[in-house]
Formats: sequence, C-alpha cells, structure tokens
Amino acid sequence: MTTNRREMLGAALPLGAVGLVAASGAARAQVASAPRTLFEVPQVTVPVAGSEARFPVRRIYCIGRNYAAHAREMGSDPNREPPFFFQKPTDAIQFVAPGTVGDHPYPSLTKNYHYEVELVAALKSGGRNIPINAALDHVYGYALGLDMTRRDLQRALGDEKKPWEIGKSFDRSAPIGPIHPVETTGHFKEGPISLAVNGTVKQNSDLKNMIWSVAEQISKLSEAFELKAGDIIYSGTPENVGPVVAGDTILCKIQGLPDLSVRIIPPLA
Ligand code: MN
Repeated sequence: MTTNRREMLGAALPLGAVGLVAASGAARAQVASAPRTLFEVPQVTVPVAGSEARFPVRRIYCIGRNYAAHAREMGSDPNREPPFFFQKPTDAIQFVAPGTVGDHPYPSLTKNYHYEVELVAALKSGGRNIPINAALDHVYGYALGLDMTRRDLQRALGDEKKPWEIGKSFDRSAPIGPIHPVETTGHFKEGPISLAVNGTVKQNSDLKNMIWSVAEQISKLSEAFELKAGDIIYSGTPENVGPVVAGDTILCKIQGLPDLSVRIIPPLA
C-alpha cells in the first residue's frame, strides 16, 4: 500500500521530491499538493573553502570602473561619480578549484577578449537601503573572480547606446574560485591584487585603490535592488585590462585567497 502510493507520487513529481515523500507522513502530504515542476534547472553553487558546504548563487552583480586608473583607461572621469552596476546570469559562473587550471573556451562573436581580475563579495543576507556602517554584516565571504569581457562588443554597444549584455553577460563569463568565509579571512579592504598572462604581470594594484569600498558598493546597490542571501558582487577591476587568445594562461592573485588560473582554449564548436 505504502509502496504503491510512493510510486504513484514519484511518477508525478521531480526526482528530488521522492526522498521527501518517503521522509514522513507530514512531508508526504505537503509534497503531494506541491505544484509539479516541468523539468530540473540546476541551482548554481560555488564551493565554500574548508567545508563540504556550497554557496548558492542568487544573482551576480558587477560594479563598473571602480579603480580610478581603470576608469581613465576606459575613457571616463574617475572622480566619485555614483558607482554603476550590471549583472551576469548566475550560470555564467565557471568554478575553478585552487591548484588547477580551468579550461576556458574563447567565446563566439569577439575578436578582443579581455580579462578583468576582481575581488568578489558573497552575501549571506541583504535588504534595501543598507547603511554603509552595517553593510559588511551581510557579507558571508570572499572569492577571487574574473569578469571576462567581449571588449569590442561592449564598446560598440556602448557607442550605440545599446545594452552591454552581449559584451559582459555571456556563458562562462564569470570564472571564480572558492568562497572563503569572513571568519577565516577577515574583510578585504586593502592588499595586492594582480593578474598575469603567460607569466607576465599585466594588472597590478591594491584593493585600497577601489573608488567605492565593498561596504559602499553594498549600500549603493541596495538603493537600486533588494539584496538577498546568495547575491555575489564582482567589485571592479584595476587598470591595464587587455586581450587574451587561445593558448594563453591567466593567473590571478589577491593576497589572502588562493590563486585562480584559467587557460584559454579554442572556441567551442
Ligand atoms: Mn569588471
């Protein structure tokens, strides 16, 4: 009798629900009335360093032109204009484990593919209109990330006053290392950040050169969006962004986090 009922429910529900059905009578009743999901869509997660836990990613926010020298090289005034933000889809995440080199396919449509090394803040909670002095209370941890960019498309679309989407928010455009809980690293307010291509240092700065600190970024973002647990923020890149081609290896460093490395491989067929 029980088996029959379980089979019946199992046939009508996604696989993940079957375990719940077996768990208890209460869970069984709850699951039986839950709406059916048409198919499984994976939750994007990033491993947490030193733990079996994974950090579930809700949204990826990125801040633009957050180092004065980079703002200048991109042709804008580095004075404290309000920070601006864009998003990447969560499945743009490409996790790369420390000590490994991730294969990163050169994307379609571009002839000028750029690296941007960035500190990433991961939130455990959020809210609206978060004051700067409370902002860091929402940070779960930090990671090292790359905001990969089809620079030619980003520039062309900007010139045409069209959305950047295709220049910034494409598949695999967000390589990232594991998230390190704040309790193990503290907050990142200063310290070296660098990127090398094939062993030659290209980007080399200090987190203290960010125009808007992580706390200020969270506060400003929360004026525009209700932030929530699972949101991550790519906090901007220093100057000397530049192109890579298939065969190049990128090595990113932030003091206090393990290195992040990817190899650019030929485009996917
Ligand atoms: Mn960036």
